[in-house]
Amino acid sequence: MKAKKKFGQNFLVDPYFINQIIKEINPKESDEIVEIGPGQGAITYPILKKIKHVSVIEIDPDMVEVLKNKIDDKKITIFAGDILEIDQNYFTKFNKIIGNLPYYIATEIIFKITKNHSSEAQLYFMVQKEVAERITAKPSTKAFGRLSVILQYYFDTELLFELPAKAFSPEPKVTSAFIRLIRKKRVGLKIMSESNFELITKMAFAKKRKTIRNNFKNILFDNDFLSLKISPGARAETLSIEQFINLENYLTQKNINFDN
Ligand code: SAM
Repeated sequence: MKAKKKFGQNFLVDPYFINQIIKEINPKESDEIVEIGPGQGAITYPILKKIKHVSVIEIDPDMVEVLKNKIDDKKITIFAGDILEIDQNYFTKFNKIIGNLPYYIATEIIFKITKNHSSEAQLYFMVQKEVAERITAKPSTKAFGRLSVILQYYFDTELLFELPAKAFSPEPKVTSAFIRLIRKKRVGLKIMSESNFELITKMAFAKKRKTIRNNFKNILFDNDFLSLKISPGARAETLSIEQFINLENYLTQKNINFDN
């Protein structure tokens, strides 16, 4: 079947990498797995060799037809629709959420799942290599940014392996990477307001080459930096996740108005 660009369809075709993916996911009978974007079933079939049932979310009616025709309906529950429209509570019952994600909305999908705080699921996703690098980047590295801070607050993130474009058909223009995100059991330092955390990380990285002092002009002053033990001349990319949490706690407690 012809791949549809508008749905970000690049089908996995390399058996070596499909096997590597299944090894990492390690499906067990006790698992409740949901796959995002099963397409023609490149990952779905090998999973069903290991466990009896899988849930999937697929937007393309043609793909849904393929899956319905090929897989016994006792083995698969299909949500035929857009993942971005699903109620985020949908994900609560699963302990593994997996997928070769449509790259055009990969970060949106990950953020959506992140926001379901009652989900403890392990996430196994294929994304564009650059996105994988940003998600897993450590402070003071080129890829460290807002995505790293927000996702590493919630998850232990790991880039498991890279895949060349030729592992897919049609070949994407980019290199891909398979990542794992395991939700952290956060004890101790926690953010107080999710929306402030989002806003603060946005502001901190708004102008990447500028200092924290500059990006928080009229919001943070010298005495604030002293209290926070953050050098005003530092750039956001050098701060640790803990320093970002401190920053959020500080600004939330002070009830500082960000609209200045
Ligand atoms: N898992 C298959 C594979 O590895 O060969 C297909 C992966 S392909 C990169 C992405 C899949 O996500 C496609 O099947 C596409 O139709 C589906 N998709 C795209 N946008 C979607 C959305 N908003 N909601 C649900 N599925 C979507």
